[in-house]
Amino acid sequence: MSRPVPKPGILDIAPYVPGKSGAGVHGRVFKLSANEAALGPSPKAVEAFSRTASGLEIYPDGSARLLREAIGRAFDIDPANVVCGVGSGELLHTIANIYLGPGDEAIHTTHGFLLYPIATMSNGATNVIAPEKNFTADADAILAAVTPRTKIVWLANPNNPTGTYMTAAEVRRLRKNLPPQVLLVLDAAYADFCSNADYEAGIELVKETDNTVMARTFSKIHGLAAVRLGFIFGPSHLIDVVNRVRDPFNSNGPAMQAAIASLADTAHYKAAQAHNEKWRTWLTDEVSKLGLIVTPSAANFILIHFPTTPGKTAADADAFLTQRGLILRAVAAYKLPQALRLSVGTEEANRLVVEALREFMRAA
Ligand SMILES: *Cc1c(COP(=O)(O)O)cnc(C)c1O
Repeated sequence: MSRPVPKPGILDIAPYVPGKSGAGVHGRVFKLSANEAALGPSPKAVEAFSRTASGLEIYPDGSARLLREAIGRAFDIDPANVVCGVGSGELLHTIANIYLGPGDEAIHTTHGFLLYPIATMSNGATNVIAPEKNFTADADAILAAVTPRTKIVWLANPNNPTGTYMTAAEVRRLRKNLPPQVLLVLDAAYADFCSNADYEAGIELVKETDNTVMARTFSKIHGLAAVRLGFIFGPSHLIDVVNRVRDPFNSNGPAMQAAIASLADTAHYKAAQAHNEKWRTWLTDEVSKLGLIVTPSAANFILIHFPTTPGKTAADADAFLTQRGLILRAVAAYKLPQALRLSVGTEEANRLVVEALREFMRAA
């Protein structure tokens, strides 16, 4: 029998598995598996979104001009060098579609975000994995993985699911030593949560070079994951090509209104940062006190490492917590079979997780 056949490489892709929404046996469920905003979106964003319910028959502005201008003001960047899209995920795929084909290579690190191998393989290109040091991307290992076929380096900074980051100096050293024809993609989905002085999201590097692009999202600190909106900031030649190949209406009207209102609500943004800082530190300390190893995080989640002792493994903990309606993220697909990723939640959720983990560690 004959039927349509996907291009080579496509069927090698392991489907992306989103964080579980889960069902607790006791009714209430705390979803701490997808790094969603603990405080939710800005009320002003919700209001702006609601107002768009009239006018749904009208196509949105395909150039996303008002949103790009708001982004330009918020980040001090030229709106002409911004493209918005259906989450940053869509834009990363578009970049892969433009630059990768069979025979090309794209580098990501051992525990790098899973969208990267998917985007690479969708285009028949080859994944090259650069080892990490201490769960952190390593500039020298990435440079050592470069070949004449390398077209893209994917770098989430801070990275998901490890929460670690490469310092601004190291990212700059990486860029400086990469061949000029290699595109460095800085995925800064969690940049808003990292206040460390030695960190940069990549804005300056994009301005200074011709081969670096930064991706951002409204899904995390802005709490707008449901409306699917992200953007890239890049050099003009890249922006020009992305604008040729993207769907002409890849940012929907209600999402853009919500995002514009969210960018204007700096009080909510700062509250979300402060909440995260406070509870990320608290969770790291409390979980460490239980005898578990936590990788220091610069994002809105922490990575908890469990022992291999039967009864105390990550899989055991996952089952124990899930039964109590506490949904964490198993990260075996990220080559971390003995760890769980915990998103920073509300105060109540955070306290419940630590309480449940204490019980889990005590249980025989
Ligand atoms: C959540 C996340 C994104 C953003 O995805 P959207 O498509 O914008 O929702 C991008 N990169 C990383 C590493 C992420 O964890």
